[in-house]
Parts: sequence; C-alpha cells; structure tokens
Amino acid sequence: MHRVSGLLVMLLLAGAHLAPVGGLAQEGGDHLQVVASFSILADVARNVAGDAADVTALMPLNADPHSFVPAPRDLVALAEADVVLTVGASFEEGMAVSVANAGEDVNVVVASACVAILPFGDAAAHGDDAAHEEAAHEDDAAHADDSEIAALCATHKAELAALVGEAADAPQDAAPLGRLYTLDCGEAHEAGGCDPHVWTDPDNVMLWTMMVRDTLSALDPDHAAAYADNATAYLEALNALVNEEIAPAVSTIPEASRKLVTNHAALGYFAHRFGFEVVGLVIPGASTLAEPSAAEVAGLIDAIRAEGVPAVFAETTANPDLAWRIAEETGVPFYTLYTGSLGEPDGPAGTYLDYMRHNVRTFVAALGGTVQ
Ligand SMILES: [Zn+2]
Repeated sequence: MHRVSGLLVMLLLAGAHLAPVGGLAQEGGDHLQVVASFSILADVARNVAGDAADVTALMPLNADPHSFVPAPRDLVALAEADVVLTVGASFEEGMAVSVANAGEDVNVVVASACVAILPFGDAAAHGDDAAHEEAAHEDDAAHADDSEIAALCATHKAELAALVGEAADAPQDAAPLGRLYTLDCGEAHEAGGCDPHVWTDPDNVMLWTMMVRDTLSALDPDHAAAYADNATAYLEALNALVNEEIAPAVSTIPEASRKLVTNHAALGYFAHRFGFEVVGLVIPGASTLAEPSAAEVAGLIDAIRAEGVPAVFAETTANPDLAWRIAEETGVPFYTLYTGSLGEPDGPAGTYLDYMRHNVRTFVAALGGTVQ
C-alpha cells in the first residue's frame, strides 16, 4: 500500500514504484485522474496536464488547508484517483489520515519532495549554527542515499539552476533544514520545524512543476510529450513572473519597509526569496491551528511600533478579526492577502500566477513601493 505518513514516507517515482494504472479506458474515460490536495497545487498540475489528464482539488476554494478534513465525497475522489498530489511537510494536517487510507491503487506523490525546506519562527530570524549544520547534513544524506528520489531531486535541482541561474542562491538569512525527502517533519509545529508554505517562492513551484511532469509521464507515458511541453511552457511563465514582474516590483519598495507582519507563517519562503523580514505573526507557529496569548499579542504590537512596520496583512483563508484589531491598535493599514487558497476563477487570484501578482501588488501598495 502506498501511503503518506509523517513526511514523505512514500514518494513514488519513475515507474519503479508507481502502481500501474490499469483500466483507464474503463473508468472515467481515458484520462488520468489527478487529485491535488489544494487549489494552488491543482492549478500547477492543470498547467502540466493540459487536456491530457483530469485534475481536481480536494479542498474547496478558501478552505483553511491546515484544518480541512475531507468529507465523505472527498474520500470517494481520493479512492478513485490514479494519483494524489500533496504538498507534504505536514501541510495537510487534517487530511493526512484520509490520504493514507485512500487505497492500494492510489499513488501518493509529495510535490515538495525536492524543495529545500526552511525552518519557521525564531530560527529563521537568527540564522543560527544549528540550521547551518543541518544544511550540511543535507548534502551528506544526498550523497549517502542513491535512491531514486535523491537522483531525481539532483536532476530537478540542476534543471532549476539552469532556468533561474544565480537567483536560486538568493539571500540566505536562514539556512534550509534540508531537501524535504531527507527530513522527518513530524506533526509538531514548534519554532524551527518545517515550514510547509513552499509555494510563496516561485522557484519551489518550478520544482513542483517538474515533479508533476515526471509523475504524470510515468503514469501515462502515452502523453509524456504533452506533459513535457506543457511543463516547459509553465516553467518559462514562472521564471518570467519572477524576473519581469515580482523582482522589479519589489525593487520599488524601500529596503527599510520590506517588513511583514502576517496573520500566520504563510510568507516565509517569499520573504526569504525576495529579501523581506518577517517581523511577527498574529497566529504563532507554522499552522493556523493555534491562538496567541495576550502576551504574544502585546509583544507583536510592540514589535510593529519598534520596527516601524508599515502594514498588517490578513489572509482570505482565516478569520481576520485579530489581525484587524492589531492594525487598528498600532494605527497601521490593514490589507488582505491570498495565502492558502486561490480565489474564484474569474477573480484577481484565480491562478497561481495571478495570486502572486495580486499579493505583490498588495505589498507594493502597502509598503511604499511604486505602482508600475
Ligand atoms: Zn498555512
């Protein structure tokens, strides 16, 4: 049985471990049935699948991914899927058991397996030695482990480097804990643990794209050429998004204003990639499933004043009341970001590319950048 427990236990790749997809013509037409855990991963998968495979998102739009628990109809979708794509790193907290029980014929692939996972919380701010030591272990593990996943991640890392060049090694204020496939993220969300919000750095979405491409191609070799072409086009679009839109827009924000106070720890990878400092979080921890103490709220208000943080950001997938009250208390404006979900298809964040554009426009407006 193929299942996900803890981290990545099963990453099924390159044919050898993928359950054969038999009887496609009999069930659900002749298309591969792909279920992604949430809307952003589903959008990436659709860009790779094109017309050749059917992709659905398990979580509805605007659900909080941390707390989402599948309904009975979702269990049916899981059981009927040829492959289930997850973020991993304990992101899908509420659906891990259901995915694990999806059935023997369901392949589960962790899209972030090759992503360099950042710690969240205080460890990120301090860039401490422990993190650097763990990063060193990453290479050891990769060298010691000649498994298929290590080899696959090495090829994806090289493909990414060829696409994005030096930008892949941008600001290193916090050293990664390691590539996800080398880590056991567990279920705890204490400071220094795995931050699962990898997609706010488009480079990581490029790694997702490669993983989806190789997974779909292994399961459905007849359409491998289409998946490869679609992935190439999407990788180019992601790279252009960074170089032609995000980086120029961020460059208009004064450096002293590149400070974020967000509702929960959803923007760590964006901050790391584009040189922002996460000054504080309304909800402590990597998940939304916690509540701040009165002392933590008071500490955040002090930090906003002391650091001159220009704005507070709430998010569409969580109750904004506390973030709004903190903004009001500190006299700074309040904005809403898309974090754990895309918006409606015809709205401003209906795709991942538009989601990033919307959030970057919001940062530019909130933090004193120049609208271009
Ligand atoms: Zn989250």
